[in-house]
Amino acid sequence: MSGMESFLVTPEDLKHHGHRTVDWVADYLSCLESYPVLATTAPGEIAAMLPRSAPEEPEPFDALLADVDRIVLPGTTHWQSPGFFGFFPASSSPPAILGELVTAGLAVNGMVWATSPACTEIETVMLDWLVELLGLPVGFRSDSLGGGVIQDSASSATLCALLAARERATRGGAALADLCVYASVEAHSSVQKGARVAGFCPANIRLIGTDEAFAMDLGALERAVRADRESGLVPCCFVATSGTTSSMGFDPVQAIGQLCREEQAWLHVDAAMAGSAAVCPELRSHHEGLELADSYAFNPHKWLLTNFDCDCFYVADRASLIDALSITPEYLRNDASESGAVIDYRDWQVPLGRRFRALKLWFVLRSYGGEGLRRHVREHVRLSRWFTGLVAADPRFELRAPPALNLTCFSHVGGDEVSEQLLSDLNASGRVFLSHTKLAGRYVIRCCIGGTWTAERHVEMLWRLIDELAPAL
Ligand SMILES: *Cc1c(COP(=O)(O)O)cnc(C)c1O
Repeated sequence: MSGMESFLVTPEDLKHHGHRTVDWVADYLSCLESYPVLATTAPGEIAAMLPRSAPEEPEPFDALLADVDRIVLPGTTHWQSPGFFGFFPASSSPPAILGELVTAGLAVNGMVWATSPACTEIETVMLDWLVELLGLPVGFRSDSLGGGVIQDSASSATLCALLAARERATRGGAALADLCVYASVEAHSSVQKGARVAGFCPANIRLIGTDEAFAMDLGALERAVRADRESGLVPCCFVATSGTTSSMGFDPVQAIGQLCREEQAWLHVDAAMAGSAAVCPELRSHHEGLELADSYAFNPHKWLLTNFDCDCFYVADRASLIDALSITPEYLRNDASESGAVIDYRDWQVPLGRRFRALKLWFVLRSYGGEGLRRHVREHVRLSRWFTGLVAADPRFELRAPPALNLTCFSHVGGDEVSEQLLSDLNASGRVFLSHTKLAGRYVIRCCIGGTWTAERHVEMLWRLIDELAPAL
């Protein structure tokens, strides 16, 4: 090969190096346990290992793969490690990885139906499949007035809900400056951020207090709404969380939905993490009242074996969403769109361009089947209950929130500093990673069990570490 030729430009090159790359990924996944879960590199350390400028001459692929080992791995926090119990999981699985590969190979932009019909139609069908698999209200199906779309993240879904709510209210004659948004203090930060981006007045964003289970306090919500009405403001959007980020609290969706109906406001339900549990009929109690929701979102990329990014966003009345987001310049006009017989998902999201994300979901749903997905979720819930039982039975610890699904929030009875030290020692072991939060002013350790490769022996190992490192009373 002459000096100016690149090593990876033909389909034949892709085959050769592609097989090796798939081998690399598979080997990585089979030795996940040999890596310290949390990257310990100092700020700038990875950047310092890279040349200051892009190379002028093509480099061989071997050099690239070698640098993935040398530079990337040491600077990686291994989210796929079976010892990863922090935040919420970022699911992945072999079928999802291969789906992503095919998506990259096709490299279509599914901005409108005509730019790749399969991208749109498979997405529509996948979201309908999920309505059935999760037992969601049929009003979210594409053959009703509603429908579903894949967003990159739950944050984007919340933003779209806020935009649709705002548009519906302002078209109805309300002034933007008068519109109010309600969510609990435990709602995800993306609610506040979305409200700011959507142009709601920051002074009209109400963060409502919660009860001892970290669910929105309904009385406080009613009082806030009444006070706003009395000062001439207009309740516009309520965001209820099913499975809060800190402690997996569940807002009373049914009651919030009824209040929301009375106020003719928009109800968005954010079930980013907990939503996946609904593949199991016995883990669907948070669906109560969901038929009152104008929109709903959950993340298969958290707990349903599908690589980031994949958030499923449903609306009960797709016209409201499209009214808020559709603008058609001449260069995007086409017969299919004008006929009204097709879906143009660009009108269901903020950006124009969109990836073929439905493919990985299709690969996952077909590879595992409903039964496989239920087994996956049930095993994590079983392990989580078992872990919770061990923590609760040990006098050194206190549960800090009602345990739910796959999350346990606990602290050492010795106080915040002891808990903080324990977490730091656990994470320094390299074998596990857990994260923390503050609940009712207390420092709390969170253990979330949802990794694709996490099995009973990993949770046993976690408990042995905790038992060993936690100071006696
Ligand atoms: C994780 C989480 C989010 C944010 O999800 P992204 O997809 O990263 O935007 C939003 N809401 C809740 C309740 C979450 O747990």
